[in-house]
Amino acid sequence: MDIAKVDHIGIAVTNLSETIKFYEETLGIKCHGTEEVADQKVRVAFFPVGDTELEFLESTGDDGPIAKFIEANKGRGGIQHVALRVPDIVSAIAELKAKGVQMIDNEPRYGAGGASIAFCHPKSTGGILLELCERN
Ligand code: ZN
Repeated sequence: MDIAKVDHIGIAVTNLSETIKFYEETLGIKCHGTEEVADQKVRVAFFPVGDTELEFLESTGDDGPIAKFIEANKGRGGIQHVALRVPDIVSAIAELKAKGVQMIDNEPRYGAGGASIAFCHPKSTGGILLELCERN
């Protein structure tokens, strides 16, 4: 399977503005922008670092995936997913399904930053929520 690089690391946080302040002011990494993805109930901040990116995710609702992650993590944030860049997400999904990988998304969907994404179920990946990510 063709995997180009780690596209980004998705990190759940409980306070996005404090996180942005820490990374910008303390670590000196510039925030590349923020975006709200309504159907995933998240507000996202992007921090490109070298050839990859940190993606900070704050929940905008009590029942979204980030809210559930933080609840399961005893109220703390943490690494929620790892995203791998693929050149063709449709064929990557088909290849993984053919290999018996359980997908959360059988079709690509919209991801923050304008990417096309699909999640693999942690049951199939050794416990990590793995995201496939195609960008044009
Ligand atoms: Zn992601």
